[in-house]
Amino acid sequence: MTSLLNVDRAIELILMDLKSKGPEHIGITEALGRVAAADIVAPISLPPFANSALDGFAVVASDTSDASEDAPIELPIVMDIPAGKAPETALQPGQVARIMTGAPMPEGANAVIPVEDTNFDWEADDHVPLGDMLRITRPVKAGAGVRDVGESAKRGDVIIKKGTIFRSAEIGMVAGLGMSDVLVTQQPRVTIISSGDELVPLHQPLTPGKIYDSNSYSLMMLVKEYGGIPTRMPVARDSMESVREVFEGALAGYPDMIISSAGVSMGTADLIRNILGELGSVDFWRINLRPGKPLAFGHLHDVPFFGLPGNPVSAMVTFEVLVRPALLKLAGSNDHDYYSTAVAGDRITTDGRRSYERVTLTHDGNQWVAHLTGTQSSGALMSMVLADALMIVPEDMKVVEPGTVLPVKLLRQPKS
Ligand code: AMP
Ligand code: MG
Repeated sequence: MTSLLNVDRAIELILMDLKSKGPEHIGITEALGRVAAADIVAPISLPPFANSALDGFAVVASDTSDASEDAPIELPIVMDIPAGKAPETALQPGQVARIMTGAPMPEGANAVIPVEDTNFDWEADDHVPLGDMLRITRPVKAGAGVRDVGESAKRGDVIIKKGTIFRSAEIGMVAGLGMSDVLVTQQPRVTIISSGDELVPLHQPLTPGKIYDSNSYSLMMLVKEYGGIPTRMPVARDSMESVREVFEGALAGYPDMIISSAGVSMGTADLIRNILGELGSVDFWRINLRPGKPLAFGHLHDVPFFGLPGNPVSAMVTFEVLVRPALLKLAGSNDHDYYSTAVAGDRITTDGRRSYERVTLTHDGNQWVAHLTGTQSSGALMSMVLADALMIVPEDMKVVEPGTVLPVKLLRQPKS
């Protein structure tokens, strides 16, 4: 038996020549899921000024050190500072200013007393009795109730690193810094090709021996999920002419990547091998991976090309394991796989290839327990539909006894 290519080595070979796409500016409401093309440096501090964390009274903390329930301290209210207005004068020792959450601290003050620690009836008495005495029943420490300038981010800090995927938090953060657009990496455009005489388009009736083309759709959606823009070609038939026509059509669109499924296993490889040889240079690999041993990788007119196996589960798993890193690199993303660990709930046997078993995850109070999603046939896409995760059985571990702890790559948030 010829030796199988190690999965990690295959990823290395794939990533070797890939370069990330160029940058573009987009509005922040379009940026969800996109990748920062450069470090983002805070142009201002956040908050831009020291402000009150609560509704209360700004004071000089040391004025309150002797305050207690039995011996309250009385200080005059000299100012009212609502949110959105800068105080006009400084606070002197021996004075307090009513202040609202988010309102700027007056110069001279260094703490905010919660309204609860005073005799002030906030709701009943909403006009501020300037000049009245405020009774303070508890001391407050310097800095209490104050949000410092730059508490969240300081001017000049790198707040989002190049390669970060924008989530809601990152977008809120850049908005808070006053940025309405961001520099992101252009999305990779990926063309998907299915091949096989048995494949029928979705709107046609099934006739004997035919199946619907599902790979085009699962692969297009994986491309979308991982930040690319998919395009689908018409199905290539099992003939030289049809395969050539469809691949040439794909190249005519100048995509950043082409992904085909099927036609790379032993019986069918020759047909594809000849055409792909005409259009570029493609290696046919036998990878130490289950499911998904046969795989083609190379370049067609300099466009990176993956020939994934045809079985629906193999196509998806090889995408997750081998195509996703390539797509992330094109997109300039530093995202990584979400691994956790789980304990095998079933006995699993493999043939010694690195295996990605489709599992559900349940929590037993201490740990995640993985159960196989029924059949692990690489043709049964239901095993992916039911799966919360792929449990990774390392090379050469042919038997996994229940209780063995192994890594799992999460496909979604488990339910319990
Ligand atoms: P092949 O690599 O052409 O031998 O195909 C392997 C298996 O995958 C066969 O059972 C095919 O019918 C199936 N298959 C290939 N392409 C698709 C597709 N686009 N959608 C669903 N199943 C497919
Ligand atoms: Mg086929």
